[in-house]
Amino acid sequence: MKKPKLPRQTWARSPATKVKESKKSYHRQKKVSWEKEIIPQSRFRYCPLCSAELVQKKVDLHQRLVCPVCGYVYYNNPFPACAVILEKDKKILLCQRKYPPYPEGWTLPSGFLEADETPQQCAIREAKEETNLDIAVDNLFGVYAAGDDPRTKVTLIVFKGRIISGSLEPGDDAKAVGFFAPTEIPQNIAFRAHRQVLREFYALKNITLSI
Ligand SMILES: [Zn+2]
Repeated sequence: MKKPKLPRQTWARSPATKVKESKKSYHRQKKVSWEKEIIPQSRFRYCPLCSAELVQKKVDLHQRLVCPVCGYVYYNNPFPACAVILEKDKKILLCQRKYPPYPEGWTLPSGFLEADETPQQCAIREAKEETNLDIAVDNLFGVYAAGDDPRTKVTLIVFKGRIISGSLEPGDDAKAVGFFAPTEIPQNIAFRAHRQVLREFYALKNITLSI
C-alpha cells in the first residue's frame, strides 16, 4: 500500500473534510449521562488534533487508532491512579463510592493522578478529598495492574500512609467512609486491585481475609 502523505499543518487547520467524506455514518442513540453510562476511551472516533476519522492500524506491533490525515496515534496506555493504606487502632480506612463504576463499592482512598502532581501528592490529595483527613505518605506498598475499570486500564500505585490530623467525613464523591477491622471489611470491594492490596496487606500480618 502506498504510504499516504501527511500534510500536518494544512490538514490540522482544515478539519472535518475527511469526516464528510467518510462512508461510515454514526448515530447517537441517546444522550449520554456520564453518571449512568461509561464509554471507554478506546472507542474514540475522531482525531483530537484535526478531527478526521480515526482508523485501526498496526503500530509498534499493536492495533491502534491512527489518524490517516495528520498521523496522530492514540496509544491506549493505562492511566496511573494512586491509593493509600491508612490504619488507625488496627482498623483500615475505606471509602464507599457514590458514582459509577461500581457505585456503593468500597475502596482504599484513591484516584487518578493529575498531570501536575507526584504520585505521593495524589495520594495525599485523594485522602483529603474523600475522607477529609490530612495524611503523610510513608512508603510504597506496591504497584498493580488493574483491568476492571470500564473507563480505562489503570496502573494502581499504592502507598502506606499515616493520618496527621482532621476529622473523618465523606467527601463529594464518597457515599461513606469508615475504619474496618479485618473481620469487618465489606465484601463489595469495588476493584480487583484494591481487593488484592487488602489481601496482601493482611497476609503480611498473617491474617487471611474472607473477601
Ligand atoms: Zn488528525
